[in-house]
Formats: sequence, C-alpha cells, structure tokens
Amino acid sequence: MARIHIIGGGLAGSEAAWQALAQGIPVTLYEMRGQTMTPAHNTSRLAELVCSNSLKSMQRDSVAGLLKEEMRALGSLVVEAGYATRVPAGQALAVDRELFSSYVEAKLTAHPLFTRVESVVEEIPRDIPSDECWIVATGPLTHESLAESLLSLCGGDARQLYFYDAIAPIISADSIDYQHCFFASRYDKDQGENLDGDYLNIPLNKEEYEQLITDIAYSEKSPLHAFESTKYFEACLPVEVMIERGRETLRFGPMKPVGLYDPKTNREPWAVLQLRAENKDRTMFSMVGFQTKMKWPEQKRVFSKLAALRDVEFFRYGSVHRNTYLSSPKVLGEELSFLTAPQVFLAGQITGVEGYTESSAMGLIAGRAAVSKLTGGSYLLPPPSSVMGALLNYVTKGVAGEFQPMNCNFGLMPSLNLKKRMAKAERRRLQCERARHDFANYLNQLNSPGLTFTGGGDLGVNQT
Ligand SMILES: Cc1cc2nc3c(=O)[nH]c(=O)nc-3n(C[C@H](O)[C@H](O)[C@H](O)COP(=O)(O)OP(=O)(O)OC[C@H]3O[C@@H](n4cnc5c(N)ncnc54)[C@H](O)[C@@H]3O)c2cc1C
Repeated sequence: MARIHIIGGGLAGSEAAWQALAQGIPVTLYEMRGQTMTPAHNTSRLAELVCSNSLKSMQRDSVAGLLKEEMRALGSLVVEAGYATRVPAGQALAVDRELFSSYVEAKLTAHPLFTRVESVVEEIPRDIPSDECWIVATGPLTHESLAESLLSLCGGDARQLYFYDAIAPIISADSIDYQHCFFASRYDKDQGENLDGDYLNIPLNKEEYEQLITDIAYSEKSPLHAFESTKYFEACLPVEVMIERGRETLRFGPMKPVGLYDPKTNREPWAVLQLRAENKDRTMFSMVGFQTKMKWPEQKRVFSKLAALRDVEFFRYGSVHRNTYLSSPKVLGEELSFLTAPQVFLAGQITGVEGYTESSAMGLIAGRAAVSKLTGGSYLLPPPSSVMGALLNYVTKGVAGEFQPMNCNFGLMPSLNLKKRMAKAERRRLQCERARHDFANYLNQLNSPGLTFTGGGDLGVNQT
C-alpha cells in the first residue's frame, strides 16, 4: 500500500505529512527529538518554533501575507495553527509557541493514517518500493549522521554549507521596570486587542545608545567552532556584526525609533529597543532583532545597564547556531525530488529557503508532489508569479552567483515589464494583484473541491 516516509517533524515535515494525510496517503514520520535534541529545540513536540514566535506580516500587499494566504488556500496546517494560536503583534502573525506546536501535533496524531516513530534516521534507503516515497525535512540542524546519505543522493555534486543563524534573548515580563518603557506599535498600527499597543518600547537617548553600542562592541563573544564558518544570513545578523558595520547601523535597523512616540516627551526617542510578547499572557518578551553571540553573563551585564532592564531575568539567552542546506538548484528537479532519486524529496529550510513560513511552504509542495508521484498524476506547479511559485523557482532553478538561503521577497517574483516608471508601492501592489490572479487560476486548474482563495492576508479574514 502507498506510503510516504518523512524524516523530521519540524515545520516542513509536519506540513508535508498533513498534505499527504489530507489526500488519503498514510504517513510515517521519523523525529529524533524524543531521543536527541538539536542545539536550538527545547521540546520533543512537532513543529516547534526555535526562535521568534512570529510568522511575519499578515498585510494584504506583503509577500509574507500573500504566502500565508496561498498556503491557507491549499489547506496548510501550519497556517491554520498560526491563526488558531495567534497573540497580538500589530500587523504580524505572532503565535503562542506552545499552543502552536501542540495544535499541529494534536491534529497529526489524531489522524488514523499517521504513524510517528521516535528515532534518528541515519540513512535514506536506496531501493525504495515503487509505492513509497521519502521526504527529507531535517532542517537547518540536520543530524550529522544523515549527511553521508544526503551527499550520496547529490551524486557527489552537492555542497553542504554551514553558517550561523542567531537567536534573540527572551526575558521575563516580571523583571521589566515599566516606568522606563512604554507600550506602542509603530505609527499606532496595533490590532486593537491591546489598546496600549503591541510592543513594549525602551527609549534610549543619544548617550544611552552610544553606551549600549560600546558595551556590545567590547563584550566577550562565544567562540566559533572549527567546522563552522562565519557566513551569516543577512536578514538575521547578530547585533555585534551589525555594529561592526557602523555605530549607527542599529539605529537604522532594529532600534529605529520612527513612528514611536515616547509619552513622556511626545517625541521620537534617539533609539528604541523593542520587546514583543512571546505569549498571550504577556509574561515573556523577546528583544526584537537582538540576535547576539555575546556570552550569557555578558548579555546580563550589558542589558541590565538599561534602566528598564536593571533587574532583567532571561528565560532564554540569545545565541548563534549552525545552518545546513543543500545547493538545491544543482541537485533537485522542479518538484523538489532529487535528480538522482525521484522518489526522494527535499523539504523545508534544507532546500535553501529561510524562515518558518517559507520552510513550511516547501513542506507543503513536497508533500503534494510526493502524493502525485504515488498516485500517478503529474504535479501542477504553482505559478512563478505567486509567492510559493517564486520560492520554488528560486530553490530549484537558483540565480546567477552563489546559491544562498532566501526569505520570500518581491525580488524573487518576476518583474512586471512596465513601459513607464511607477512608484515602488504601486509596483508591489500590482505584483501582488498578479500573484492573486494567477494563483486563483492555479487553484481552478487543480480542480480540488473545497479550496478557496481570497488572497487577502489577515486583513482578508473578513473577506472569506
Ligand atoms: C537558531 C535558529 C534560529 C532561527 N530563527 C528563526 C526565526 O526567528 N524566524 C524564522 O522564521 N525562522 C528562523 N529560523 C529558521 C527556522 O529553523 C526554519 O525557518 C524552520 O524551523 C525550518 O523548518 P524545517 O522544518 O525545515 O526544520 P526544523 O523545524 O528544524 O525541523 C527539522 C526537524 O528534523 C529533525 N531531525 C533532524 N535530523 C534528523 C534525523 N537525522 N532523523 C530524525 N529527525 C531529524 C529535527 O529534530 C527537527 O525537528 C531559525 C533557525 C535556527 C537554526
């Protein structure tokens, strides 16, 4: 009987499993965390979020908002869980991380065709029966025992690359001195649920900002391991790396004050350290954009110099981790299966996407493509003008130059071939319009009953 085996019960593996189960294909999912942890996970739950609790923007004309809508239209479990467990975070879809992974796990384990096996998979079988497929969704922290098997699937033409990804600290709400900070969302764009604003902002004057930059720059950092290189993902740079680029970099990046007015002065501060609630009860806050490789005692020393954080208590210190991905355009076909082994698919961050939702999207595609392979149908690829299609295009076809992990962004989507100049915002709106139009056609071609698409982002919830 047909069966799909999935290695890795993170975001991509869970999403791929759900897609297969929804189409009546039994799934065996192998997850190692009951036996051994990765350096970033804390539980053995499926679909654990390892760092931020945000699935990014819900706005209608944002790429991240559109991606979630495309996935939702295809029955994504990750997006369903995201909306079911959301916590207020302005225009972003942030979730209560525990409720989120419990939701995904409960839905999967309740399915009669789902089997979970707790083990480290060290090898992908060579002779796979014709009615079975395998999906590798082992993520950025793939257990090293699988590396050799993966490399052999790459026919010797693969490169496994490592670089650092960085985690921001999470602190206890109780330990914050609220007299020295204020709740607000940038330009007051909150959802209304927290009338006082979704972010807790610590304002810094020029002297305080300069002191913080100096403290971070001269703090002791965690050493690198010999097998790791210092390649960082641009969108997730540690603060100390940003500071190396200039003392003002943070003030124009994660600490930018624009649109935030300190009620004590009615003015924008010089700089702002933003904290975002990690859970519904607002008992935990993460330091937005403050990924750091400072040693833990140094984090305590440096941040507690700020009046609001004088007694700061860390639930989780910031840290820096390895990322593993394959040079996918060289080793995968357009449906995410290996050129050397068409019954083996790759899914998630290891394909060379970056981010929770993007990784889940690659799980969704791999799950559906594997089902098509087993049921004899050819897989209809999402249009390249859609966000899912653009991401798929990127990881299977690549771009000129070195292949690097990528978030979804407008740059991946085909340009509009405009005859006249147009403002950026209008261009992007048109790109989103085109994506919505083409994706709606795609859904019609899939001809699956029950699929609906509003393309509306969160703001489209009202439109469904
Ligand atoms: C330190 C760090 C911080 C990050 N921060 C963010 C962030 O803030 N926002 C964001 O959007 N993205 C972030 N990412 C990226 C994030 O990991 C991915 O976006 C997402 O979790 C990847 O999903 P995935 O399913 O591909 O991998 P994962 O979610 O990591 O799932 C892979 C699973 O495979 C299991 N596994 C690995 N090897 C084996 C094996 N041999 N046998 C069995 N099981 C195995 C692992 O235990 C894990 O459960 C971060 C990544 C790291 C490493």
